[in-house]
Amino acid sequence: MRAVKGRNTSLEWTVRRLIFRMGYRYRMHRADLPGKPDLVFSGRRKVIFAHGCFWHGHSFARGARAPKTNAAYWRTKIESNLKRDARQIEALSAAGWRSLIVWECETNDLRILAKRLRGFLG
Ligand SMILES: [Zn+2]
Repeated sequence: MRAVKGRNTSLEWTVRRLIFRMGYRYRMHRADLPGKPDLVFSGRRKVIFAHGCFWHGHSFARGARAPKTNAAYWRTKIESNLKRDARQIEALSAAGWRSLIVWECETNDLRILAKRLRGFLG
């Protein structure tokens, strides 16, 4: 569990390196798209977000408890992240973009993750 605000750069790096090695090319953080997606595949109109499990609510979805210290703060913060993530994906979808979220915990098995990525990117 990482108590650092902002992007989890090592997570993003792991995902980028994997996708690059799979032969896909992408742009990063296109500011003209909702949520500035981490990876953008313009020709395919697809984007990928690499999300840390704690900050983006995946840990809670899987039954983890909030840290006891400042529990209310974490919960509010994570809930607002979840809402923002959902809004961004909706906005992207309305503009004709498909989104995939790669969770931090998925980088534990890159072989399975690569299959999922290939399924999404085609
Ligand atoms: Zn996770």
